[in-house]
Amino acid sequence: MFLFVIVLHESGAGLSFSHQLSCHHFLAGFWYPYKNIFALVDELGIQPFTNWTQSAQYSPNGLEVESPIFQDVPRLPSPLGTFIYTKFLRLPIWDRLSSLPLMYAVVDFDNSDKSWRKYDTRTARELFKEFGCSERVYKEAFNPMLLVGLFAPGEQCSAAATLGMLYYFILAHQPDFDVVWCRGTVGERIFKPWIARLEQQGCEFLSRKRVTDVVLDKVSGLVTGILCGNELFSADAVVFCVGISAMQRIVASSPVLQERDEFLNTCNLGAVDVLAVRLWLDRKVSIPRPSNACFGFDSSTGWTFFDLNALHDEYQDEQGTVVEADFYHANQLLPLNDEDIVRKVQSYLSTCIPGFAEASIVDRAVVRFPKAVTHFFPGSYQYLMHRNTSFPNVFMAGDWIVNQHGSWSQVCFLCDNETVSHVPHHIAQLDKSVTCAMET
Ligand SMILES: Cc1cc2nc3c(=O)[nH]c(=O)nc-3n(C[C@H](O)[C@H](O)[C@H](O)COP(=O)(O)OP(=O)(O)OC[C@H]3O[C@@H](n4cnc5c(N)ncnc54)[C@H](O)[C@@H]3O)c2cc1C
Repeated sequence: MFLFVIVLHESGAGLSFSHQLSCHHFLAGFWYPYKNIFALVDELGIQPFTNWTQSAQYSPNGLEVESPIFQDVPRLPSPLGTFIYTKFLRLPIWDRLSSLPLMYAVVDFDNSDKSWRKYDTRTARELFKEFGCSERVYKEAFNPMLLVGLFAPGEQCSAAATLGMLYYFILAHQPDFDVVWCRGTVGERIFKPWIARLEQQGCEFLSRKRVTDVVLDKVSGLVTGILCGNELFSADAVVFCVGISAMQRIVASSPVLQERDEFLNTCNLGAVDVLAVRLWLDRKVSIPRPSNACFGFDSSTGWTFFDLNALHDEYQDEQGTVVEADFYHANQLLPLNDEDIVRKVQSYLSTCIPGFAEASIVDRAVVRFPKAVTHFFPGSYQYLMHRNTSFPNVFMAGDWIVNQHGSWSQVCFLCDNETVSHVPHHIAQLDKSVTCAMET
């Protein structure tokens, strides 16, 4: 049996990591549990990542939290390590202790369909209140985590998604919060060598192809092709690997998909605006830790800033500082012009690290990502799609697809692996040579 995989994607040559808009302005963190990605880079024989990095958290009051590299400190039974080794500079111990009863919900939530349905109708805010978390631990620890982890404030996040995120990134194993960063753009450092390897293995990548519809054989019930406008690509299996907004656009242009409720219901899902700003400064500003999360500047927006001189090889020898700030749930920032955005970002950075106020900006890049990342709002679970669809040979992958391991919201190669491992099983049942068209 031959297996040809054709990857159709709408970006130009070389896949962009997240959105084709992003090409140069994207910074990506890879957390300790991203085992599939670490295995992939080993298999490719590349070393695209920094060492494990320490992080900090700031508010308008200054430094709030310092995190160690959790795998470097003595291992304690989970979640004790997270509680004991994370250094909260302002949050009193009593407030932190008030979150202990929440562990009941974290253990109770097992990522099953039943527990998603049980917790998804509540907001994260309600969950924390119900389990006795103090207002202060919510405002200064949990809500900031949600703003940068699920890209929305607690009153707009599903309690189920919150518990899944807490378990996956923070509480299951002591080192889970440890992170490495790609030392350049993910497109260059990971996708490029990966694509080259896949091409050697017979996979074909067709760029600038925007999928608009599928072709259905009404007799067999199978999808037999993909349409990119007027262009037809035959397919024996299709894997949709796009975010929510892209899927909504495909459904809007696809009479075939509009006939299925599971696809039509994606229109009930939502996505969150993100803003990325990169600044080149005329002098070195000392940034104590390479990655930093911030809260309390705008009530429903979380943001992060990164020392790119420390993280990206290409900026290591720059005379001045190169810093990137990413804002999540940045609805109110997107309409501003670049000058206003840059002014605001410099003022926010200066609140965290006063040295930023003295530096002059010599260059800048502002990239807006409207409706770019998944919004796990309360009640959204019922509309999320599953790996298998009602078409026997159409599959779904992505960070918003219900999966077995709970790693949604971040890099979706984790979820895609799970889906793609099922496609050959389907194809094996077809007694012929196959072409598998897959979109990424
Ligand atoms: C600023 C920012 C920072 C982030 N930081 C991190 C981080 O540090 N760590 C982390 O784990 N996650 C991070 N994320 C989240 C992460 O980017 C996403 O979870 C991940 O990219 C989702 O992958 P995906 O393949 O599902 O979708 P995407 O990465 O969006 O890929 C979808 C692909 O489909 C293509 N496409 C869309 N429509 C069509 C069509 N009709 N036909 C053909 N192709 C189409 C697009 O061009 C794109 O290449 C961040 C996101 C943003 C915006």
